[in-house]
Amino acid sequence: MENIGEVLRKWTSNPNFQKKYEEAIHKVLEDEDVRSFLDAHSISEVQLRKSYAKLREFVKEKNARKQGLEVKNPDMEPVLVFHQQFIDVAYKPTQQYLLTQQEKQVQSRIHAFNMPKQIQQAAFEDFEITTERAGAFEKLVTFSNQFCQHPHQFHKGTYVVGNFGVGKTYLLGALANRLAQKGYHSTLVHVPSWSVEMKQAIADNSVMEKIDSIKTAPILMLDDIGAETNTAWFRDEVLGVVLQHRMLQELPTFFTSNFTMNELEEHFEITKNGEESLKAKRLMERVRFLADEVKMHGENRRMPGK
Ligand code: ADP
Ligand code: MG
Repeated sequence: MENIGEVLRKWTSNPNFQKKYEEAIHKVLEDEDVRSFLDAHSISEVQLRKSYAKLREFVKEKNARKQGLEVKNPDMEPVLVFHQQFIDVAYKPTQQYLLTQQEKQVQSRIHAFNMPKQIQQAAFEDFEITTERAGAFEKLVTFSNQFCQHPHQFHKGTYVVGNFGVGKTYLLGALANRLAQKGYHSTLVHVPSWSVEMKQAIADNSVMEKIDSIKTAPILMLDDIGAETNTAWFRDEVLGVVLQHRMLQELPTFFTSNFTMNELEEHFEITKNGEESLKAKRLMERVRFLADEVKMHGENRRMPGK
């Protein structure tokens, strides 16, 4: 029986094999990345011959990705390295993978509770500015610029008031995205849903825990305040507690509402007795401390055909 060395010797000395082998080497050496790699390093003939398998692996892996063939780890791509006098293939994350990871990290800074998914795509750059909407837009852009410059100073938020569908929530989403890109976390809460959730939280004793996570948010955006079914409990024990904390800690807070601040005060009065109206006033003092009121008008962007 022939030993394996003998077989190999015969095989490799076969002119047909030699030809095929040379052709294969040639093909690998034709690859532009291989060429520029070889140009950039001084590699001897012996080293090159010994590294041929690596070069071949590199070209094979690279082309498989280019042709969309199935590969072991599509998030990584091959690169040639010159390591301890030999050529080797290393794998590094693809640009696409890095971008996706970065995008995921940005999105993870936005803590949204019952907010429409669309806000993920909202961007200042895509915000259609009309004269009626420019005021609110400028306020939020100015906030993001100033906040990013001096994140430890107090910056007053904005209370955006406007009709249904003018783009208030979209604008909050755009601000949250801009802040997330700069590395800051924000929390967006749809107030009507939140009030229902808090009521349910009484049953499982998680009210305080839920309030804490909202009140300490580095940047808080309360969407659609005034659209919740008001109760004295939600006003005083939930909103009151959250806004009191944010006022004392000077934490940036934003609001959107269909109500002006004065109308919101009426909404919070519930019944027109003196004590109620004092409580509503006290709550509104916190709102006014935290945010400037800006009107936003315009067409209802939710209407079909508009
Ligand atoms: P509001 O909160 O004032 O009721 P939304 O922010 O929900 O209004 O906006 C209504 C619809 O219009 C949403 O579908 C939103 O994505 C879209 N929209 C609002 N403003 C813009 C904008 N500037 N560019 C693109 N779409 C927008
Ligand atoms: Mg809205």
